[in-house]
Amino acid sequence: MHQDLGSPTVEVRRSRRRSRTVSAYREGSTIVVLIPARLTVAEERQWVNTMVERVTRAERRRSLGEPELAARAASLSKRHLEGRARPRSVRWVSNQHARWGSCTPADGTIRLSDRLQQMPAYVVDYVLLHELAHLLVPGHGATFWALLAPYEHTERARGFLEGVSATAGLEIGSDVDDEADAPAQVGVPSAAETG
Ligand SMILES: [Zn+2]
Repeated sequence: MHQDLGSPTVEVRRSRRRSRTVSAYREGSTIVVLIPARLTVAEERQWVNTMVERVTRAERRRSLGEPELAARAASLSKRHLEGRARPRSVRWVSNQHARWGSCTPADGTIRLSDRLQQMPAYVVDYVLLHELAHLLVPGHGATFWALLAPYEHTERARGFLEGVSATAGLEIGSDVDDEADAPAQVGVPSAAETG
């Protein structure tokens, strides 16, 4: 079943050893909130809201802005693709639930799902490099994977994405973008307008 991807799963852990402090951290797609065992249900609800908001706000602050994303793309292209992939824009999108990334080779645009913002840098780099490679080679044939081979974290990143998908019950696995072969991509309005 699909979860609401906009709000993370929350797990509350009550601890007898805690008397006053409340803390929270992210564990994959879940935010774990640690509270003292003595809190009432109403207090718990209030603290959970506060802490989830605090964790997600900190994550948004940490995430790369679009200028940084463009710089990252340029450096990955230079390092692994001899600088041949030159995207015109790289953007975060929040409406992309079926893929981690997508691109439109015709106009050189790349879009990354903003769910990647919570993931390790090597995973973001993998998806970005994957889309950069599609600007040069469509589809997922041997030529395509040969372009990704020099990136040392390809297998690890694919494993990570597969794990996230399995945990969150998503229908995407390590396949970044099943539709990348087609220039017009289903479900991405900005890319559907080709012509
Ligand atoms: Zn792909």
